[in-house]
Amino acid sequence: MVNDNLSLSIEQFKQKCKESGLRITHQRLAIFEELSKSKDHPSADDVYRKIRKIFPHISFDTVYRTLQSFYQIGIIKIVEGYGEKKRFDSHTKNHHHLRCLKCNSIIDFYNKSYDSISVPQELKKEFEVLNKKVVLEGICKNCKS
Ligand SMILES: [Zn+2]
Ligand SMILES: [Zn+2]
Repeated sequence: MVNDNLSLSIEQFKQKCKESGLRITHQRLAIFEELSKSKDHPSADDVYRKIRKIFPHISFDTVYRTLQSFYQIGIIKIVEGYGEKKRFDSHTKNHHHLRCLKCNSIIDFYNKSYDSISVPQELKKEFEVLNKKVVLEGICKNCKS
């Protein structure tokens, strides 16, 4: 279900940073790499816990601010949080989400007909749709067994 080439490559990452004037530091690179490895839409906490193993002195604030700047320059996405912690997604290509209501896991999936879902005419008048994402809520395999 998950295709590996959805995140930006390191080269593309560096390019984007340059274009946006974001300095490329070892820490930023490590945070990006960590995020592109993880397929579970980690929260800033999750990223912080992993990155601390490489940079023991890094602060949560630094990690959080880095993720925010990545988001601002379009390197990563933020998954809508429904009032809970923000979750980050390095897959910037069009995809949809399965969301488990028990364990809160968010799983990527792809579906061509969902990609081309059409927006009802009456909504178009009131709202300019820029992105379409389908979220299916339910119970995941792990929680079911
Ligand atoms: Zn679950
Ligand atoms: Zn995703």
